[in-house]
Amino acid sequence: MRLRNIPGSRETIAASEFVVHEDVMREKKGNWNTVFGNDNPISIEVGMGKGRFITELAGQNPDKNYVGIEKYSSVLLRALEKRETLPELTNLYFLRMDAEDLPEVFGKNEVSTIYLNFSDPWPKDRHAKRRLPSREFLARYDQILKPEGKVEFKTDNRGLFDFALEEVKEAGWKLEVCTFDLHHDEELMKGNIMTEYEERFSSQGNPICKMIISR
Ligand code: SAM
Repeated sequence: MRLRNIPGSRETIAASEFVVHEDVMREKKGNWNTVFGNDNPISIEVGMGKGRFITELAGQNPDKNYVGIEKYSSVLLRALEKRETLPELTNLYFLRMDAEDLPEVFGKNEVSTIYLNFSDPWPKDRHAKRRLPSREFLARYDQILKPEGKVEFKTDNRGLFDFALEEVKEAGWKLEVCTFDLHHDEELMKGNIMTEYEERFSSQGNPICKMIISR
């Protein structure tokens, strides 16, 4: 998702108390508990878009901490607009960064769950490395996840999902949960939080795939 450049978005983000800023985020590596002021587990969503999923998740789980990550200021701004209506949430921060830099921002064993929702497909073969469930990204997640940590990935893009299944095998990760039709799986739908893309594509009749993986 790339929205039209919105004048002033960088300045609004820079002034927000709900964003951990680029100049200090690397200093938090290994010490994100000090940002939240507690030792509750930390989960992140990579490529959160307008942030509905992680904002709802944070609201439902006040005993857990969440970090929403988005590459583009124009998109993060939309998440921030929603975040600012919920000042009572003390367990949610946003980062504007490229997920390629995750191991510079989070320490070893610092993250409990990584959520990937409707990640960009990057259809050209030469861009495979940019896909968030690629082996290159799995290696980055490996550097920050707890030993028992999990990656949860949802998409309606069957090609991207099949690619992810191959990458999981190639990288030696374990497939714990896998469905090609999440919305018709009563058990897996318990507690499912719809993302903006999930709502859009499922309403068009596209089946939603989901996997949960671990090392
Ligand atoms: N997760 C949301 C949803 O399900 O509604 C948004 C999905 S949108 C297709 C993918 C988002 O991931 C875009 O906002 C894009 O900017 C972001 N993104 C893609 N690659 C990224 C990266 N390397 N680092 C951070 N964000 C990224």
